[in-house]
Amino acid sequence: MKKIALLGATGSIGTQTLDVIRTHRDEFSLVSMSVGQNIDKAREIVAEFQPRILSVSKKEDYEVLKDEFLNITIVYGEEGLIEVATCSEADVVVTAVMGSVGLFPTIEAIRARKTIALANKETLVTAGHLVMKEAREYGVSILPVDSEHSAIYQCLQGENMKEINRLIITASGGSFRDKTRQELEGVTVEEALNHPNWSMGAKITIDSATMMNKGLEVIEAHWLFNMPYEKIDVLLHKQSIIHSMVEFHDRSVMAQLGTPDMRVPIQYALTYPNRMVLPSTPLNLAEIGTLDFAKMDFERYRCLSFAFEAGKTGGTMPTVLNAANEQAVALFLEGKISFLQIEDVIEKALNWHTVQQNPCLQTIKEVDLETRSYVLSLIS
Ligand code: NDP
Ligand code: MG
Repeated sequence: MKKIALLGATGSIGTQTLDVIRTHRDEFSLVSMSVGQNIDKAREIVAEFQPRILSVSKKEDYEVLKDEFLNITIVYGEEGLIEVATCSEADVVVTAVMGSVGLFPTIEAIRARKTIALANKETLVTAGHLVMKEAREYGVSILPVDSEHSAIYQCLQGENMKEINRLIITASGGSFRDKTRQELEGVTVEEALNHPNWSMGAKITIDSATMMNKGLEVIEAHWLFNMPYEKIDVLLHKQSIIHSMVEFHDRSVMAQLGTPDMRVPIQYALTYPNRMVLPSTPLNLAEIGTLDFAKMDFERYRCLSFAFEAGKTGGTMPTVLNAANEQAVALFLEGKISFLQIEDVIEKALNWHTVQQNPCLQTIKEVDLETRSYVLSLIS
């Protein structure tokens, strides 16, 4: 029986992780979990899965729940996330919270020698050098949940990392892939939230529309697979059937395919190196008929250029990229800036910041907060 700690149980990845646990009750159990503010859903999950620890974001919710649930430990805030992530019984921590709030719990989980099933890409973007260093030092595996990285990970099984020529990350193009830059001017939040292939949380859906999601994934791939940015390509592939590819020195290319279903990479991270049955839709290529590919347009998708640049600059620059993006997307979702202003704001933040190389955790926390304040100051 593998015991799971789940950060972000109420979200899109969290819900699908619970679905995988439910499918394999004899193999998995939930020992600790965190939610943000969705307390009603938290109650349902607790009733069904009976975890030992529940963390909530707000102290007010903690006050209510600690009197309601006398048999489980209720905690809150960042400390609460860390308590969930370091729960003594847990073997694996699924990091499915949204945003850089996932960084400290992930670091503490590594120090507690938990295997990490990593969905929370912002953690690797904001502090990849530290997360990977800690994982090496503590001998902890970081198993990708993000579908592209899971695909690459699957292609690399049994391969020699020294024989890789390049990684090819596929991108669906998001909700606005058929619009020109001009047509993007008046787009609404509702339109942006309508992703053609995947049903995901709001922030990552907007990131997919701006292509920042692919930018974050390029940085994530750089850290997970220790790959220089020059060897990471992005390819438009609108059907999201090929989840990503690896090219080797002999020009042989390996790809992983499947119908878009996040439960597949989630389950693979939980069962690795084995596979288990999953009631998912089989891939029917005859029915799909054609798979399309197109060159990535870096002028149309400026956020992807920003991510490559920030990644190559390194140091605190990816922290700024991530924090500016998180704040800008939040402002867009609140209706305070337009869709195209997301990239303007990020560009300004990247130009404003003076990079510091090899930042420690404390510096990353400070730069993250300063960047968010800077972005807020731009619109006030
Ligand atoms: P959702 O927005 O659906 O869920 C986010 C989860 O995090 C919720 O449980 C939410 O709680 C919780 N949360 C949000 N903010 C905080 C906070 N400040 N403190 C504590 N908890 C918080 O996101 P997704 O599931 O879509 O994405 C989660 C992560 O996985 C992201 O990093 C994303 O990039 C990554 N990912 C997602 C994919 C997908 O298909 N969805 C694919 C690949 C990666 P509540 O709702 O209770 O407030
Ligand atoms: Mg992805």
